[in-house]
Amino acid sequence: MIKIKKRKILLLPGDGIGPEVIQEVKKVILWLNSNKSLDFEIDEDLAGGCSYDKHGTPITDEVFYKALESEFVMLGAVGGPKWDNLDFSKKPERALLKLRKELKLFANLRPAICFEQLVDASTLKPEIVSGLDIMIVRELTGGIYFGEPRGIKPIENGERKGINTHSYTTSEIVRVAKVAFDLARKRSNQVTSCEKSNVMEAGQLWKEEVQELHDKEYKDVELSHMLADNCAMQLLKNPKQFDVIVTDNLFGDMLSDQASMLTGSLGLLPSASLGAKNKDGEMRAMYEPIHGSAPDIAGKEIANPIASILSFAMALRYSLDLDSEADALEKAVQDVLNDGLRTKDILSEGKKEVSTSAMGDAIISKLQ
Ligand code: NAD
Repeated sequence: MIKIKKRKILLLPGDGIGPEVIQEVKKVILWLNSNKSLDFEIDEDLAGGCSYDKHGTPITDEVFYKALESEFVMLGAVGGPKWDNLDFSKKPERALLKLRKELKLFANLRPAICFEQLVDASTLKPEIVSGLDIMIVRELTGGIYFGEPRGIKPIENGERKGINTHSYTTSEIVRVAKVAFDLARKRSNQVTSCEKSNVMEAGQLWKEEVQELHDKEYKDVELSHMLADNCAMQLLKNPKQFDVIVTDNLFGDMLSDQASMLTGSLGLLPSASLGAKNKDGEMRAMYEPIHGSAPDIAGKEIANPIASILSFAMALRYSLDLDSEADALEKAVQDVLNDGLRTKDILSEGKKEVSTSAMGDAIISKLQ
């Protein structure tokens, strides 16, 4: 078992705008080291298309071992048209999937927060999204994306059949539900569990196990169950009814994308992927903005670094228990937005456009 080194952070900037936005995170880390006497040790390496170009593989064993021994990984984004036609096993995204799978990061946390200053950027009416603060907890390593049997096979009548298997075990459901209940206790104490128990046995089991865990250990948290298709509707109709939503891999993939768009911009939204705590209380984790490598704007110095900086704030909170530093960083982002500074993706009339690095500098100056 490889030991996690405390305070060691592995930066994997990746492709496209990844290196531009992670550079701003690096500035924040160095600022914290100098001004808050935090002793983060930073390592940086290749993952994604850039790794394929240099080593012929999206992630080398050496980088993977570095990830194993780091306290957490901060990823930028991977992929781009240059690598679109590679064999599936060589695609940049394989780096991500390998890290998630091998580090056993089973809980994906995606907050959907509507910044008051950017309420007009949403496609929904301001009164529907203003003050929105939802946390979606998606199961990340089970369900239909991983279940066996899977594949495409010929069948007797000359047609082909595509097969995927949706399955969950009690322990897979319970561990992710615990993450959701624990988070709810630190928020508004309310969990909505989503599945399709009306048509799927795996959904029925999901509902029963979540309820049982609630009744045994989390009676103080308000639990409700909702069919996933209804949840998709409710997210558009009345999103502020939700606090924490917990759901499986497939429904979580869709519901979290839908929720993120309520807030208007991809460039603002962070995410965390967490593993189980070991007996020493250590947990593997990876933090990344939800956006991709945005090849259309790469190299132009206009990418929004806020999603990455807020992902690092999640790392401060969930991996390091540095809640006050996380609060300060989130407040610095709010303050900069209050001052009217905007990268191009969130620019509106009367606001001042700034570059990627100027946005990072402004956030750091608010920390001071
Ligand atoms: P994308 O998120 O990269 O970009 C979608 C749109 O949002 C683009 O117009 C882009 O310019 C804009 N955008 C994204 N992030 C921004 C930011 N920080 N600041 C300003 N504007 C931003 O999605 P896509 O175009 O579908 O995918 C591009 C590549 O990224 C693909 O190769 C895809 O596979 C990959 N991808 C990677 C990840 C990941 O690494 N986690 C996630 C999604 C997509």
